[in-house]
Amino acid sequence: MADPRNVLVTGGNRGIGLAIARAFAEAGDNVVITNRSGDAPEGLRGVKCEVTDTASVDAAFAEAEELLGGPVEVLVANAGITRDTLLMRMSDEEFDSVIDTNLAGAFRCARRASKGMIRLRKGRIVFISSVVGLYGSPGQTNYAASKAGLVGLARSISRELGGRGITANVVAPGFIETDMTAELPEDRKKAYLATIPAGRFATPAEVAAAVRFVSSDDAAYITGAVIPVDGGLGMGH
Ligand code: NDP
Repeated sequence: MADPRNVLVTGGNRGIGLAIARAFAEAGDNVVITNRSGDAPEGLRGVKCEVTDTASVDAAFAEAEELLGGPVEVLVANAGITRDTLLMRMSDEEFDSVIDTNLAGAFRCARRASKGMIRLRKGRIVFISSVVGLYGSPGQTNYAASKAGLVGLARSISRELGGRGITANVVAPGFIETDMTAELPEDRKKAYLATIPAGRFATPAEVAAAVRFVSSDDAAYITGAVIPVDGGLGMGH
């Protein structure tokens, strides 16, 4: 079994982030999650973090490193929001807030994480994007742009830090079984399912498995990659 690593998952208090944090913890890694309010989920250690605020990100990393007893070796930048509406109705605030959280938030975390990783001469940065980043989606210009931006971010980090044992990859989930998809009306669900070659939505654990793989020693030569976990929905990206 590989040595335990220090893992930080942003937005790991619920949804996909929680599944990712649990998967690392079950594999024996040292895990800290970030949450904005409330307590950390049972069995996980949490630090408060607002990813739109540099000081909050820096403080969260300092606190996480204290809890972990060393630098973050695996960063999973998962925190994200949607503010969907059609292009002509979208306000500057709706556009900016999604970019600030999903793209600039991931940048702030990666920048802070890189300091420790450069010193260690190893590290794994995983950005949670979405199939719509490269596929596009009506009503999601802000969200899709933020998620596509993560690809440029990961690829530039790969080129900057690839020689120091650090990889940066993007995991792009399609439809995932979450509270959100559970609430979809049956006809909408059917229509979505018809477009997915696998004929089903993914479980959060299936996203977590891909994240764990690109974070593993076995994936040392995979960087700047976009790993789809979408049942074939975005094939041909
Ligand atoms: P949830 O809405 O369930 O959780 C989002 C997480 O991000 C929460 O922990 C939330 O914290 C945190 N977060 C949001 N904004 C901020 C912020 N400004 N600062 C710090 N934390 C923040 O999302 P999902 O689990 O569904 O999605 C997780 C990721 O996966 C997102 O990046 C999403 O875009 C992506 N994704 C999701 C898909 C899906 O089908 N669900 C499909 C493809 C991609 P809090 O609890 O405090 O609000």
